[in-house]
Amino acid sequence: MTSNVLVLAGTADATQLAVALDAAGHRVTSSFAGVTTAPIARPGTVRTGGFGGPSGLAAYLRAERFDAVIDATHPFAAHMPFHVAAASAEVGMRHCRLLRSPWIASAGDRWMGVASIDAAPDALVALGARRVFLAVGRQSVAPFAAMVDLWFLVRSIEPLDLQLPHVESLLSRGPFDVDGEIKLLQMHKIDALVTKNAGGTATAAKLAAARELGLPVVMVDRPPQPPGIDVVPDVGAALAWLGADRPDRSPGASQSVGDLPTV
Ligand code: NAP
Repeated sequence: MTSNVLVLAGTADATQLAVALDAAGHRVTSSFAGVTTAPIARPGTVRTGGFGGPSGLAAYLRAERFDAVIDATHPFAAHMPFHVAAASAEVGMRHCRLLRSPWIASAGDRWMGVASIDAAPDALVALGARRVFLAVGRQSVAPFAAMVDLWFLVRSIEPLDLQLPHVESLLSRGPFDVDGEIKLLQMHKIDALVTKNAGGTATAAKLAAARELGLPVVMVDRPPQPPGIDVVPDVGAALAWLGADRPDRSPGASQSVGDLPTV
């Protein structure tokens, strides 16, 4: 049966989800915050800009007569998942969160976990880092602006809004491979990395490269998710969730947030 689906976008998963929903015969609208100026093209309708909080989103859901909402925003989108949960509950619409599993440290990894990006500068000081690969996205460099003794390599899809005292900006969009990441780290004499625990494969190569070179990684933990919502780990599970009259609770299908592994 064809469904009219709203996808909250801003991730590679959201792009793949729009393609998969369209291929399965569903109507899809992808919504962007407007942070990225040139999102990757995708089938269906694309809209851009905030809704004006949960009440604005609820009004939009009613007006557009969606059948379901899939929140595929980034694991570090701190507000939108709560807005989607509240708005969906208000209008009585089916809703799930597409949240890929976090990265888990393996043998040889030298990770230092921090609860938020604001705690990362202290971790770098504790590590005695001097030349840092900052792979946190251009919107998250502000906490490092006062670190005048450190040099940063910042990789982002779009140019930085805020410059750091000593920085080289690298504009690039994943996926990246391990050999390329090793060369990048060696070329810039990187002695520590900072990353958000985004999960997924597109940007995981830097972790394998750091392991290979024995470099420490400051790993920023994810923000909390709304309690009690349906969570699916990938596009296939999102399609299965959409097709199910009731959320599928079989092994490997959707989980509640509390069931997800943590780092
Ligand atoms: P956020 O804190 O959860 O959202 C801030 C506000 O932006 C929301 O309250 C909402 O405005 C608007 N918004 C967010 N996602 C939207 C969407 N898909 N469609 C329409 N409006 C949206 O998120 P953020 O950290 O600022 O990230 C903004 C966007 O960038 C998200 O779509 C996210 O997927 C993407 N992104 C974030 C990160 C990250 O590290 N945070 C990394 C990569 C991509 P209203 O309240 O007015 O509706």
